[in-house]
Amino acid sequence: VPTANDSSTDCEAPPQSEELEDDNVAYFIKKKLHVWCRQPKGKWELGMIQSTSGEEASVSLSNGNVMQVARSDLLPANPDILEGIEDLIQLSYLNEPSVLHNLQYRYTQDMIYSKAGPILIALNPFKNVQVYGIDYVSAYRQKLTDSPHVYALADAAYNEMMRDEANQSIIISGESGAGKTETAKVAMQYLAAIGGGCSGIENEILQTNYILEAFGNAKTSRNDNSSRFGKLIEIHFSAMGKICGAKSRVVQLALGERSYHIFYQLCAGSSSDLKERLNLRAASEYKYLNQSDFTTIDGVDDAKKFNKLMKALDVIRMCKEDQELAFKMLAAILWLGNITFQDTDNENHIEVVNDEAVTNAAVLMGCRSQELMAALSTHKIQAGKDTITKTLTLRQAIDARDAIAKFIYASLFDWLVEQVNKSLQVGKRCTGRSISILDIYGFESFQNNSFEQFCINYANERLQQHFNRHLFKLEQEDYELDGIDWTKVDFEDNQVCLDLFEKKPLGLFSLLDEESNFPRATDLTLANKLKQHLHANPCFKGERGRAFGVCHYAGEVLYDTSGFLEKNRDPLPSDSIQLLSSCSCELLQLFSKMFNQTQKQSNSLHGGALDSQKQSVGTKFKGQLFKLMHQLENTTPHFIRCIKPNTKQLPGIYDQDLVLQQLKCCGVLEVVRISRAGYPTRMTHQEFSRRYGFLLFEANTSQDPLSISVAVLQQFNIPPEMYQVGFTKLYIRTGQIGALEDRRKYL
Ligand code: ATP
Ligand code: MG
Repeated sequence: VPTANDSSTDCEAPPQSEELEDDNVAYFIKKKLHVWCRQPKGKWELGMIQSTSGEEASVSLSNGNVMQVARSDLLPANPDILEGIEDLIQLSYLNEPSVLHNLQYRYTQDMIYSKAGPILIALNPFKNVQVYGIDYVSAYRQKLTDSPHVYALADAAYNEMMRDEANQSIIISGESGAGKTETAKVAMQYLAAIGGGCSGIENEILQTNYILEAFGNAKTSRNDNSSRFGKLIEIHFSAMGKICGAKSRVVQLALGERSYHIFYQLCAGSSSDLKERLNLRAASEYKYLNQSDFTTIDGVDDAKKFNKLMKALDVIRMCKEDQELAFKMLAAILWLGNITFQDTDNENHIEVVNDEAVTNAAVLMGCRSQELMAALSTHKIQAGKDTITKTLTLRQAIDARDAIAKFIYASLFDWLVEQVNKSLQVGKRCTGRSISILDIYGFESFQNNSFEQFCINYANERLQQHFNRHLFKLEQEDYELDGIDWTKVDFEDNQVCLDLFEKKPLGLFSLLDEESNFPRATDLTLANKLKQHLHANPCFKGERGRAFGVCHYAGEVLYDTSGFLEKNRDPLPSDSIQLLSSCSCELLQLFSKMFNQTQKQSNSLHGGALDSQKQSVGTKFKGQLFKLMHQLENTTPHFIRCIKPNTKQLPGIYDQDLVLQQLKCCGVLEVVRISRAGYPTRMTHQEFSRRYGFLLFEANTSQDPLSISVAVLQQFNIPPEMYQVGFTKLYIRTGQIGALEDRRKYL
């Protein structure tokens, strides 16, 4: 594989351009250079131009065929020496087939990591690749290798943190199943290895992955281990660079999913004693679990995983009593799901079937069966001094049951994160230096997109802006401020799309909340309201019926408002909260107390105007995301883009269209362009003249740093197109400073 410096040897190639221009064609024919030739199905094949006539060219393909193609279907290919180059920046031709081919070439050789300028690209291998472990850690630590790797990126973050005493972040993004969570773990492993000390806290941090994944991940159609929450883990270091604590922040979206791994693990792995105490059965006997097609996942041993989880809970020093309480809550949720209802004689009304499901759920929750049945089938209304009891309809009763189950689960997850954080609490010796790793669900676009996708895609839109801001805006502003003539590279700014979501009162979240407060609102009235108020935003697309479209940075997504209102309200009837607070189970009492507290806080935030109103799910999500973004603002970011080479979750398959679409979505090509067009080396006039001024053959009469600097550049014959002089700094292209540095050392 060519190394970084080899790109300078491709001087045979004509001036850089992504297109095959007229004056290049003759050169390509003469030198027998390769071109990319678009095939009828859209695939690109490598070939050589034999002759041209007008707008047509005759091309011989590598399989021996000769075909006539339009000149517009030809693009220059890179010289062989650049085959499989590590950094896309080094490609002479940066067209789509070249980038795709380069990544594919590397992928087939198990080189899953590549660079695109400052970004690390990680292709999911869907198999074990032998590039991890202690030998690799030390190789990267000792700089024995610099080939692209998560280790290299984590090492750079660590070094920057130590050198600049500045907090760092590693931001991992990509579609569902692209490998974000695995990549985050690889980064954590590296930091644990180099920042580990005698306290062993690094091991605790790694163990927390088991806990959060068991409770926060579920099998989906796209990923057997899909994270249903976003996580930012902040790892703290002492002045000596040793890990001294960690804290996780999560963004939860516990909607609709009931197939979290932990339920299956608990059913498969708990001891017979525990099973008896929890009245636990096999997963297949629970409605919440047996409705999905899979109660097991290929290659996953749930029982084994449960044992690992219990060990992890021990490692973070969660006492056995608390562990059992948590498992009890899980069992209660499973039994709740088995509770059924039957019609009573009078009209539409129902009653709870008094069977073992009710009895078991009530015992586990610590209440009487009668109380639980009442909360699930009736609703108390305060009318003046009197309380009227109304019977629920079947739909309402099912919703109430599921709402309680969801509430318990979401509270349990929050509580677990808190326990984990307590155990990893940042110690006194910590200096506040940290590296945060963000692993958050990627952009989702399905056939049918609902409220979950709406929230997830909004989060990705925010992250995209962070990325754009950092890499593009800051870069450009820096050049412009310093008076540098710099041809702007167009890049997507997604502020308009964010406005569509965030504007008050006329934005998607606000309008959704407003409509959620109307008792008589329906999915259709919501869709109409959105169309009425938002049609002017270019990112909004009104569609027929209950649908609407949003033009995201990653493409247009069609949302169906069915269920939006319900999911945004996420109603937990007050009767249910009362029931939970009266239960003898300590955790349930705690959860209802936490619930009441957040209600109070959110009501006082709203100036009491929305008295007694629960904070909507959308608003809560937005709030969590804001906090998370705020935490990222104050760090130096390092970006990893995970790419999923196929949707089958299988090794060895590289679907070009799928990869291209993801590269486009995350702006990788623009980044490469901008980095290559830029001047990565920057020094103030003073710094430059101080560092290299003494190399001048003739003493410069002027003391002015700028004229000294320019004299140095001229003496070393640095071509004028290789640098620019700004008001305060010199901007120099890659590879130019080497000669000066060599000279300095030599003297
Ligand atoms: P989601 O957004 O759904 O949470 P994700 O991007 O976090 O998805 P992962 O769970 O990290 O995706 O990866 C999906 C699967 O791909 C993993 O379970 C694993 O089988 C495989 N995988 C990802 N990265 C690697 C890797 N570096 N080496 C081996 N296998 C990997
Ligand atoms: Mg994940």
